[in-house]
Amino acid sequence: MVNVAELVALEERYAMPTYARAPVEFVRGEGVRLWDAEGREYLDFFSGLSVHNAGHCHPRIVEAIAGQAGRLGGVSNLYYTEPGVRLAERLSESSLGGKVFLCNSGLEANECAIKLARKRAHGWGIDEPEIVVLDGAFHGRSLGTLAATPRLARQDLFGPLPPGFVAVPREDPNALRDAAGERTAAVMIEPIQGEAGVFPIAEEVLVAARSACDETGALLVFDEIQTGMGRTGSLWAYEQLAVRPDVMTAAKALGGGLPVGACVARPDVGDVFEPGDHGSTFAGAPVTAAAALAALDVIDDPDLLRQTRELGGRFSSGLAELDGVVEVRGRGLMVGATLVDGVDAKDVAGRALETGLVINVPGPGMLRFLPPLVIGDDDVDAAMNVMRDVLN
Ligand code: PLP
Repeated sequence: MVNVAELVALEERYAMPTYARAPVEFVRGEGVRLWDAEGREYLDFFSGLSVHNAGHCHPRIVEAIAGQAGRLGGVSNLYYTEPGVRLAERLSESSLGGKVFLCNSGLEANECAIKLARKRAHGWGIDEPEIVVLDGAFHGRSLGTLAATPRLARQDLFGPLPPGFVAVPREDPNALRDAAGERTAAVMIEPIQGEAGVFPIAEEVLVAARSACDETGALLVFDEIQTGMGRTGSLWAYEQLAVRPDVMTAAKALGGGLPVGACVARPDVGDVFEPGDHGSTFAGAPVTAAAALAALDVIDDPDLLRQTRELGGRFSSGLAELDGVVEVRGRGLMVGATLVDGVDAKDVAGRALETGLVINVPGPGMLRFLPPLVIGDDDVDAAMNVMRDVLN
């Protein structure tokens, strides 16, 4: 066995330096708990960035993966296998009712939505379609989704990026209305901006987006990659909002820990693609699809979703009362906090980690909390105690 210092050295030698990691090696997870290589226990309020919403190593998901892996791993997308088709059915029936494209990650789900919106617009004779996006959004790191991600990722390093994306301020419904016009193929929105630091988009902006799409025929695309899979206390965040999208993308917790993404369309826009237009080797393969079906079995449960809303509310109000916290935002168990000026969020998260609580710093002066939805009252109390201590 290697120690953390040796792992750091190995990574420095062999891995491209794309991540700034905390100096801890996790070796085991169960429910809301993680253990490091030295046997120390942690309370996980990050869930691998909202991936393990069902908790670490949920027995139902582990069993589904192991069972399918022992039967059939995959045969390519040139033949039929049942789990992927069942997953498409399940996603459609639980959301927009149309057709689904399965893929392997969030950015791929968004690429699919972008390609679908562009092909549909081409069909209407629009040669250079535009997609309206909001400042502060994060839609991924491929060239297409990077172009849809104003500011949050380093666009300048990777140019030229694909044209056709128009960014507007996230809190200005008029700017959004003005930006949407004849060339608009889609308006793409994260209903709560996660990477920005958990910023819910105001209802008037969502309503403006819906009416701009209704007037122009553009598609309203909701990126539910972080907000979906029960995170906000409903299976999809839009269920608690004033508007319904035409297209929704999901990933992260969808695969129950394995890489699964999906783009779901409303019924009349599901037939834009034809065979050969789009695809991916691993997409919808039996093992990952079986994991996703099991994750949906666990998460699409009214009791768990109610508990997510209740515990989220309790955690948020407790956090708002702590010294050093100026604002708490979010919904359900997707919670962001801004700290008073001068408090170093990285330092706070570092001390929380040393005390055994895993939390995240989405940006300067901000903290983000994304615990597994299977936490209990005791876990909320324990996390609050750690936060009270480290903020003091
Ligand atoms: N969209 C949102 C809202 C995200 O939070 C993320 C990842 O954090 C992505 C898209 C990209 O997902 P992936 O990293 O799976 O490509």
